[in-house]
Amino acid sequence: MARITLENITKKYKDKTALDNLSLDVLDNEFFVLFGPAGAGKTTLLKTIAGIEFPQEGLVRIDGAIVNLIEPMYRNVSMVFENYALYPHKNVYDNIASPMRSKLYRKDEAYIKEQVLRVTKMMRIDELLDRKPSQLSNGQRQRVALGRCLVRTPNVFLMDEPLAHLDAKLRHFMRGELKEMQSAFNSTTIYVTHDYMEAMSLADRIAILNSGHIEQLGTSLEMYYTPRNEFVARLFGEPEINIFSGEVEEASGQLGITALGQETIMPVEPDVAAVLRSGNHKRVHIGIRGADITFSFAEKLGWIRGSVYTNEPIGNKVIMVVDVKGTHIYLVAPNDTKAEIDKPVYISMNMKDAILFSAESAEYIIRHDARNVSRRRGANKAVG
Ligand code: ADP
Ligand code: MG
Repeated sequence: MARITLENITKKYKDKTALDNLSLDVLDNEFFVLFGPAGAGKTTLLKTIAGIEFPQEGLVRIDGAIVNLIEPMYRNVSMVFENYALYPHKNVYDNIASPMRSKLYRKDEAYIKEQVLRVTKMMRIDELLDRKPSQLSNGQRQRVALGRCLVRTPNVFLMDEPLAHLDAKLRHFMRGELKEMQSAFNSTTIYVTHDYMEAMSLADRIAILNSGHIEQLGTSLEMYYTPRNEFVARLFGEPEINIFSGEVEEASGQLGITALGQETIMPVEPDVAAVLRSGNHKRVHIGIRGADITFSFAEKLGWIRGSVYTNEPIGNKVIMVVDVKGTHIYLVAPNDTKAEIDKPVYISMNMKDAILFSAESAEYIIRHDARNVSRRRGANKAVG
């Protein structure tokens, strides 16, 4: 319903720069996710679009029109805040109805009732319509706040961690509902989360925010498979990606990498070799995800020997931490894996799956077949 454009936005709170010359273009009908650590500027960015905070520099546009001086009410955005901010003296029904009773967006009571019932049913709070906020759990209050955001059909929905206080099962269910609603309504949505699974499952595109600037902008698969730097790589995936140093070596004309105190050179593919040669890289950081590492308790020739450091079941899989000469390597094992601490274990990793970063700058250098990998792997959902 609207395109949102930010042009060179700088927002300071006294001498703290919350948004640092940030530009962003969110397309009409897009489900756009802002993802990043606490303090990155996510809430400030939403408030700047809503008109609750005013940037010192830059332009905010909605459908091309500059709205810097337009009051929040006239921007026709619907925002759900991180800290809910419900009316304490109103019950659930009236809280959710309130945006439809405002002077500017007034609707008749029959329509209001229909909408309140629609969203409360969807959020499974339709039994709570008479309760006051003080009689609700945090998760219920959060759903009321979300309901109040969703009853309207604004130009844009701004949602600040709207599911953060729900338990895992409900969060999963609500994600599905939001996604479905978004496609049915053709609304533009900007959604803040610090949960990477949520970001990946909801987003058309994601912007990674860090210290007031955008680290990377793209699809979730692009960020997972070809992160622009180590910071982005670490944000996606459970367990966190393994990143350790390696030396680029050449043996009989074949380029490869040694790492983890091993003598064996792990060969790299020709596309990777060409980039390492042309950039004259000697030392690199190797990023490799736990799901891409194979292990065996039986000795295997050419595999890396380590010992079990910890072995932690997390639902449908086991995270095994293997100590290799002091470096801890996280890998994903089947959930029936039993391993005593200190037991010898052999691991194998294929440089075809590795993401190489500069040892100096932590910036992305290359991964094998980078252009196709997210498309090919994304198709069979090999993310985790
Ligand atoms: P996020 O939502 O990503 O956690 P915020 O946008 O809330 O980040 O904050 C970005 C930075 O701006 C933080 O360093 C925060 O402390 C600071 N900040 C946010 N709001 C205010 C405020 N009202 N006054 C002073 N500093 C603020
Ligand atoms: Mg915030």
